[in-house]
Order: sequence, then structure tokens, then C-alpha cells
Amino acid sequence: MVTHGELPCPACGYQRRGIPHDTACPECGARGLSGDLVVSGTPTETPEAKLAERVHSLSHLVPAVLILILAIAWEVSPFGLDRMFTRVRALLMLAAIAIMVYAWIRRRRRNTTGLSLERCVWEFEPDAVVVREYAKETRIPLRDITEVSAQIDFVKRRTRVTLVTAGASLGAVGLPSLFLGGPLDAQRAIVEGIRQRASRGHAQAR
Ligand SMILES: [Zn+2]
Repeated sequence: MVTHGELPCPACGYQRRGIPHDTACPECGARGLSGDLVVSGTPTETPEAKLAERVHSLSHLVPAVLILILAIAWEVSPFGLDRMFTRVRALLMLAAIAIMVYAWIRRRRRNTTGLSLERCVWEFEPDAVVVREYAKETRIPLRDITEVSAQIDFVKRRTRVTLVTAGASLGAVGLPSLFLGGPLDAQRAIVEGIRQRASRGHAQAR
């Protein structure tokens, strides 16, 4: 099995690291992963993804604003000479800095702890791709994929991959799309792998 991404349980986000691919999720019981190429990525459109991004930027903004307010308060406060109050403020500032450092570490560690944001999993089988997002599973025949579109975002270092589908699949799933993470080289290689499978699907259909 060729894989890319964190490969969490798509249903609950549990990090499946260290668990055999075909074993059911120990958290929610969803089936394990199958297929000869399995790719996980961040959903592109879901509210949860948007919320996660918002929370993420808030976790940086809040401590920064807090420090600014404290720094100003430090100067203008009538209690400026009160040693006890100064000590409290110093503690608060330390706490704010600690939160910032924590947010930074969490960002760096996000990939190894807690629940994964990569809730889109694509499982490529010989003739179809199973698109799993949350509890939803849709099977798209490879011959229905007319194009594998990839947009590389060099700033965020991720690739938006979209399976452009035709026929019945289009009505069933719309355009499945996800953001690939990881090293850019690996992202490029996996897009190539997806394209090869899609064109192989076409060759079989003919
Ligand atoms: Zn699960």
C-alpha cells in the first residue's frame, strides 16, 4: 500500500498511527483503510476546516493582543507603583508568552498529537476510488474521473487536488477535493500517482 498523509480515521479523526491499515478504528469502529494507494488530506470546504483555521489564527492573535494590552496597562496604570500588582501583571505576561509558545509548539506538533484535521481519505482500488469524508463514503469508478486537477499553494505548502468527474459520479459526490500536506516533493509524487491510476481507469474502460 502506497500512502500519503496522516491517514487518520476519516469518521472521527483518531490518529491511526501504529495501527495496521486494515484494522477497524479503536475509537469509533469505522472500518480500516484499504486500497493500493491511500491518501489523506484536509477537507477543502467543510465548516469544521474553516473553524479549525479560525481557531488556529485566534490562538496566535489572542496572546499577542493580550501582551499589547498588558504592556500599555503597565505604563498608564495608576497602580504602576504597587509592587503586588506589578508582580501579578508580570505573571500574566509570562502566561501570555507561555500561551504563545504553546500555540507555536502545538502548531509544530499538530501532526503527531490529538485528532487529525485530515478528515478526507481517498482509497484507490484497481477500478475505483473510495472517497471517505467523516462518516460518508462514496465510490467513484476511475473511468468517471476526467481530470485530476492540482493547484500547488507554495505559501501554505499544500496542494489542492480535485477529482473532476463525469457521469453519475458528478451527481453523487460533486467534485471531491482535498488539501495534501507533507513535503512538496511527496505531494507532487502522489498527484502523479493519482493521475496514473485515473488514466489506467480510462484505459480499462476502453
Ligand atoms: Zn474512528
